[in-house]
Amino acid sequence: MNEQTARREIVRVGQLMYERSYVVSSDGNVSVRLDDGRVVATPTMTCKGRMTEDSCAVTDLEGKPLNDRKASSELAMHLLIYQERADVRAVCHAHPPHGTAFAVAGLAIDQPILSEVILTLGCVPLAEYGTPSTAELTEAMRPLVRHHNALLMANHGAVAYGADIWQAFDRLETLEHTAKIAILARILGGARDLPPDSIEKLIDVRERAGYLDERARCQACGYLHETRVVCPTGERDAATATRAVSNGGASNGKISLTREELIELLSQAARLGARV
Ligand SMILES: [Zn+2]
Repeated sequence: MNEQTARREIVRVGQLMYERSYVVSSDGNVSVRLDDGRVVATPTMTCKGRMTEDSCAVTDLEGKPLNDRKASSELAMHLLIYQERADVRAVCHAHPPHGTAFAVAGLAIDQPILSEVILTLGCVPLAEYGTPSTAELTEAMRPLVRHHNALLMANHGAVAYGADIWQAFDRLETLEHTAKIAILARILGGARDLPPDSIEKLIDVRERAGYLDERARCQACGYLHETRVVCPTGERDAATATRAVSNGGASNGKISLTREELIELLSQAARLGARV
């Protein structure tokens, strides 16, 4: 993509994010990685609904300014994603209310409740809290970026990314829509999960259709563990163990523990029992 097109589409996506209440005030940021490796990003302290094409900042992949505009202070989050994912060309970060409610409640969006979401987005894990615009935040995100196309950031918001700016925006929109449906279903008495065999069929469909490839099987995502879907690299187990510890193991009322954690819990219970 050339720079002029990137500027035009960033302004358009910023307007959509603002109109759809994914951001207010000067929240959020959007960037595009150009073919030559430079990054065009939204400017700092600017409402995403009122940007102009010439207000965008341009940097290199280390964040060094290449024009006289100052990029968002959260550019580091975008650069981390570009470093970890050669296939990603655009990133959208926002604070959409329903998705952010999950992030504030300490929950991932990882229940298998919507077939379309399993096909096109996969699960959305929760990265531990890190102070915005610092390495704390990017280090919390780093282990999750490789196998997911959208993340929640605890007590902060959401980020989605893709092969172009519209795929990134669509993923952000799907994340927010899913969170909204999950919250509404809870009000109606609780969502009913799709069974493991239906999930396996959806994984098969999404890979044959090219919506998501085999790497998405490695997602640190609770419901894949109840299926026969195998992670080709074995990284899913490590990532899930990390998330289970950082989340306290609880997600949507379910608890997942590693073998070691279970043994420790049982021995604690035995010690307590011996004292009574
Ligand atoms: Zn933010």
